Amino acid sequence: MPEGPSVRRFHRLVSPFVGQKVVKTGGSSKKLNPASFQSLWFQDVQVRLVLHFNGGGFLAFYSCQMSWSPPPEVEPTCDILSDKFHRGQALEALRQAQPVCYTLLDQRYFSGLGNIIKNEALYRAGIHPLSLGSLLSSSSLEALMNHVVEFSSDWLRDKLQGKERHTQIYNKEQCPSGHQVMKESFGPPGRLQRLTWWCPQCQPRLPSEEPKNLLSS
Ligand SMILES: [Zn+2]
Repeated sequence: MPEGPSVRRFHRLVSPFVGQKVVKTGGSSKKLNPASFQSLWFQDVQVRLVLHFNGGGFLAFYSCQMSWSPPPEVEPTCDILSDKFHRGQALEALRQAQPVCYTLLDQRYFSGLGNIIKNEALYRAGIHPLSLGSLLSSSSLEALMNHVVEFSSDWLRDKLQGKERHTQIYNKEQCPSGHQVMKESFGPPGRLQRLTWWCPQCQPRLPSEEPKNLLSS
C-alpha cells in the first residue's frame, strides 16, 4: 500500500484531466497497447504512457507499472486524508485487543496509512508498537489518532510544495533524544511482517504488560 500523501499528490496532478476524452496516445509498453486508450474517457490511471487531451493538455507517465484494474472501493470515512474521515470509527478499531501497530496498517480502518506514517505516529504519541489497543487509555489512543492525521496532512502539504518530509524514527538509528532505536518486523501471524522502529525509552511497554514476561520466565 503506497502512503496516502504520495497517492494524493498524484491525484491532484492528474485530476484536471478526469472526465476528458483521450484524443491521441503515445509512449510504449510491453504490457498494454497505448493505442487501446484512444477515445476512452479518462477516469483513473496508473500507467506509463502519454495521454493527449483536447485543448493541448497531456499527461506523461514514466517507468510505471501498467495494469487494468477495477475502480478502488474506499469509503471516504476510512481515508485518513479525507474531511469525512470518521475518527470515532477508527478509535473503535484501535481499541481492539491486538498490537496497535497491526491495526494502524489495516486499510479497512486507515486507508492511506503506510509503514512510515505508522512508525512516526507511534513515536510521536510515545506508544510502543506492540501495545494492545485494549490496554491503552482513551487519551493515548486519541493522541495517536491526532498524530496520524497531523503527520499525514503535513506530509501531503510538503509533497505539494516539493519539500522532503523528515522522519524522526523511521529508518533511524537514534531517536531525536539521542536514544538507541530498536528495529524488528511485526505483523499479524501468517500475514505480512513490516519493519518497525521504536525507542524503548520514549515508547515504553505498558506497565500492565510487563508482569506477563516475568511470569513466563
Ligand atoms: Zn527516545
